[in-house]
Amino acid sequence: MPRMGWRGKRLTRHFQQCRICRHEACAQIERAFLDGASPREIEAEWKFASYRAIYRHAHARGLFLTRAEKLRGRIANTVAAATRIIEKVDSARVTGSNVLAAVRIVMKINALEEKDRLAARSQM
Ligand SMILES: [Zn+2]
Repeated sequence: MPRMGWRGKRLTRHFQQCRICRHEACAQIERAFLDGASPREIEAEWKFASYRAIYRHAHARGLFLTRAEKLRGRIANTVAAATRIIEKVDSARVTGSNVLAAVRIVMKINALEEKDRLAARSQM
């Protein structure tokens, strides 16, 4: 039997004690987390007694880093789309719906950046 390093031992112990790892909807819970659901939202959705288990699971499985990378990709895509619109602003006819769409994009970028900032802070 190969020797198990400290990370392997830690993950094995985590798996033995973690309610999320052993939950039948583990993959769905992880997907919800990676899609941006907060641990408190997941706690409410799957009726967990505490959101802390979700934090422990996410840290043990490296989900915060994966989620932050995914959010950064979404921010980059949104900025690229907004940039293409901005490049055409001088030749485009500005309507009320254009202005509202631009405001929505800016609000989305701000929300994504805030989530990213909070996720980065929780990694510290
Ligand atoms: Zn777990």
